[in-house]
Amino acid sequence: MIDLRSDTVTKPTEAMRKAMLEAEVGDDVYREDPTVNRLEELAAEILGKEAALFVTSGTQGNQIAVLTYTRPGDEVILEAESHIFYYEAGAVSALAGVQTRTLSGPKGQMPIEAIREAIRGNDIHLPRTAMIGLENTHNRAGGAVLPLHYMKQVYQLAQAHQIPVHLDGARLWNAAVALGVDVKAITQYTDTVQVCLSKGLSAPVGSILAGPKPWIEEARKWRKRLGGGMRQAGVIAAPGIIALTDMMNRLADDHRRAKALATGLAQIKGLNVDPDSVETNIVMVDVSPWGVSAQHVLALLKERHHIFGNAFGPFLIRLMTHRHISDQDIEKTVDAFLQISRNVK
Ligand SMILES: *Cc1c(COP(=O)(O)O)cnc(C)c1O
Repeated sequence: MIDLRSDTVTKPTEAMRKAMLEAEVGDDVYREDPTVNRLEELAAEILGKEAALFVTSGTQGNQIAVLTYTRPGDEVILEAESHIFYYEAGAVSALAGVQTRTLSGPKGQMPIEAIREAIRGNDIHLPRTAMIGLENTHNRAGGAVLPLHYMKQVYQLAQAHQIPVHLDGARLWNAAVALGVDVKAITQYTDTVQVCLSKGLSAPVGSILAGPKPWIEEARKWRKRLGGGMRQAGVIAAPGIIALTDMMNRLADDHRRAKALATGLAQIKGLNVDPDSVETNIVMVDVSPWGVSAQHVLALLKERHHIFGNAFGPFLIRLMTHRHISDQDIEKTVDAFLQISRNVK
């Protein structure tokens, strides 16, 4: 089986399993779990923030950020295809009671002028703009990296209006590797950040939310309200420590393989794939010229080749590389698409 659905399918390494077994634990709601405390201190340091909080998932981290920044009736500015808007089951309205102002941005970049215009003034009729969200790398934009100069521009604009910036950095590690910079070079342009430990970094569970110390204290209360106060969580924090210390550099291999996959697929007649647009570990494949749906192609890939991908639109397939995908898997996948191309004609 070649599972290209998501980097979330990565399983913990042997070292992670061992660390789980040996983790020193305590009750984390009493803040007495030494392993969770160590993970949070390490994450804060790596991300260049005062404090960090271990949360159950990326979605929980993002939603705690929205809940901590806003009151019901506020407005948050989000990219129109951002995960917070698109993939979190309407939580910003269901839980935080805020409304969204979505702006379309090519490659995940909302135009600066559009953000400027979207920021609300003081008029009694208007809601308060309480947060600007960014996503780096941007999932639905095919793993596109937000450039540092863009992040800086957004941050400066936000600061001029005293509006906080939250970064959904589920794949921040991929962005840092692609840019060849330390993650702090990116997080310097955001007040708070959510990062996933359980995607390309291969930890089994969890995300980190990082930001200023008093803000993280409030966030900790929201985590408790949402039922995310965990007890002997050291057993799941221990692999997170390994994720942060040992697993980032190998992401370059995932990026190289994604590029190879896109380059191979681009040579197949009737497939719309742009290798130049592949910046990290995500490849978007448009099968519309074949005149069949993404679901149809995915079913053939699964039944005949044991290859799995995700539909991202009626004719769009998303394929993602990760630790369990080898060079040989890339070759096999290109070959499978080639065989299918002969059948759909
Ligand atoms: C996966 C992802 C999340 C959410 O993470 P979960 O742990 O699955 O809740 C948030 N943002 C982006 C961009 C993601 O890709």
